Formats: sequence, structure tokens, C-alpha cells
Amino acid sequence: MKTTNALWLQCGACGGCSMSLLGYESTQLHDALQSAGINFLWHPVLSELSGQAMVDVLKDILKGTIKLDLLIVEGTPLLGPNGTGRFQMLSGSDKPMSQWLIELANLTKYCVAVGSCAAYGGIPIAGDDRLEGTGLQYHTNQLGGLLGANYTSSSGYPVINIPGCAPHPDWIVETLSCLAMDDMRPTDFDPEGRPLAYFGHLAHHGCPRNEYYEFKASAAQDSDQGCLMENKGCKGTQALGDCNIRSWNGSGSCLQGSYSCIACTMPGFEDTDAPFLETAKIAGIPVGLPSDMPKAWFVALAALSKSATPVRVRENAHNATIVHQPTRKKAPQ
Ligand code: SF4
Ligand code: SF4
Repeated sequence: MKTTNALWLQCGACGGCSMSLLGYESTQLHDALQSAGINFLWHPVLSELSGQAMVDVLKDILKGTIKLDLLIVEGTPLLGPNGTGRFQMLSGSDKPMSQWLIELANLTKYCVAVGSCAAYGGIPIAGDDRLEGTGLQYHTNQLGGLLGANYTSSSGYPVINIPGCAPHPDWIVETLSCLAMDDMRPTDFDPEGRPLAYFGHLAHHGCPRNEYYEFKASAAQDSDQGCLMENKGCKGTQALGDCNIRSWNGSGSCLQGSYSCIACTMPGFEDTDAPFLETAKIAGIPVGLPSDMPKAWFVALAALSKSATPVRVRENAHNATIVHQPTRKKAPQ
């Protein structure tokens, strides 16, 4: 099997994407990487090399003595102050991380942004963005970013984005494995660079609160079992990701843990119209309506659904536990 050399660099980040990677559990992480032929030249958590030895690896890549197949970036490239990038120097070198990234991105076969920070800017660019952060090829939903709108790696691909805060480890390992096998095509990605295998779904799909959503039976307080969209800020109907279809850490997901979806896979999720766990509304109607649904339809459907809500669903929605069991149908005589 051919060997695929991968280099994982961290920019302005919490390290959560690396932590998520370490939580990969479909098989052992090392076995999964090995079976795809992926050899990490360096990873901030998995590698022993540090200091000058690590910088020497990057220099050898730039000199062409080590080939680079996968450049993987976690965290937000920071360009401050005043576009110099000197807020974020690579330790042991006199060069800003942003400059290293530009030079390495021009050599690599594939360039992968892991997490919403590297993909679109993420949490570090929220608010007044004094660090001058940006995504690798997007600034929120605008093409551009550090590498520019026209960037392609040596294989002809733009930056491959695996957003999420943090992304599911399967999304990372499977995408890297497919790239190592040159088994992805341009049609496998959506217009914002996300693999469709994971981001052709909505976070809403598979949410255990779907029945409450159907009848617009909404949670009023945090412990309620109802749908979290109307009052508790849930954006699962607008967020791309199969988050509720595959389990995280063995079981569960944001929604299964009773936490509203904050649309962490979407560009610009960091700047919201209301605190994450509150629903922004105008004239009592949520600002963020479900994808694919015109506002008038939503309002009409919501009114109809509420008028037809079964007592069981309505009362369970406003309780922390099931207070009404489903009606038992009599067996046919
Ligand atoms: S809580 Fe969110 S994801 Fe779950 S059904 Fe309601 S809108 Fe959909
Ligand atoms: S459910 Fe929403 S907040 Fe949670 S990981 Fe998916 S997109 Fe992000």
C-alpha cells in the first residue's frame, strides 16, 4: 500500500478537534490510520517530535526532501496585528504560522480544514475579531480567507472543509482515509467544500424530539422534553450534519444530551442574533426558519400543527419525564 504523508498544524484553537480525533472509536485510531496508509509526519498530540526537530520537518517539506500529501489545519489562522500574522508565530521559527500555511498549502496534494475555525473562521472571529482571524479559504461564508478564492492544491482541489465545533471523529478519519486512497471526486462535496456523505443531512434528522417538532410542542424550560426550536435556540433544522444519525463517544449527540443545536457546522455560527440557547424572534416568529421552507408555509403549518397536537404530546413536551403513555391500540378480535 502506498504511504500518505500527513501533517497536522494547529492555529488559533482550543484543541477540541484534536481531542475529537482521539475519541475515534469505530476501530483503534492508529489501526484506522495505518489501514489507510496514513503516516503522520507531525501531529500536535500524537507526535513526540518538538521544537527544532519539528520545524526541521516543515523545512524538509519546503525543500522537497519530504513529500506532503495531506496538509491538515485545525484552528483559525490569525493575521493580526495589521495583517502581519505576528500574533501567531510558529514556535522555534521566525515565521508567522500563516506564512508557513501558505507555503505548505502550495505544495500539498490535498489541503484539509478540520473544524469550523479552520474552515470558516469560527469562534476566534466572533465579535470584533481583534486577532484578525480567517478561515483557510472562507471568511465566514465569503470565499477568500487565507489562501484566496482561487486556491487549489496540487491535485486541483480547493480546501476540503470538515466543519463542526468539534467535528465528529468519523468525519475526520473517513475523509482523510478516502483522500489517502484518492477516492473522492469534486461531486462528493457541497458548494462550501463539505463532504456530502456527512453534510448532505440536517442535524434535525434523527433528533429524538422529532415528534414534538411535528406538532410544534415546544419546550418552555430547559428540563422540558419538547422541541427546542421555538424557545431554546435550536437550529437543527438549518444546520448541515448527520450529527443525530451517528453516535458520539459511544452514544448520544448534542440533542440527545438535551442541548440545542447551535449550527456549529455552518459559516458564521459564532455571531448569533440571540444567545446560543435562546431563539431570536421577530413578532413572535423565529428568525431562523427551517431550510427549504418559505416563511408563510411555516407559519401556516405551525398553526395547524398546534391546533392538532395530541394531549400526550402537548403535556409530555412540558414535562421532564413521560407523563402520558401512547394509547394502546386494541388487538383485532
Ligand atoms: S429540538 Fe431541534 S433538532 Fe430536535 S426536533 Fe426540535 S428543531 Fe429539530
Ligand atoms: S447538532 Fe448542531 S451543534 Fe451539535 S455538532 Fe451537530 S451541527 Fe454542531
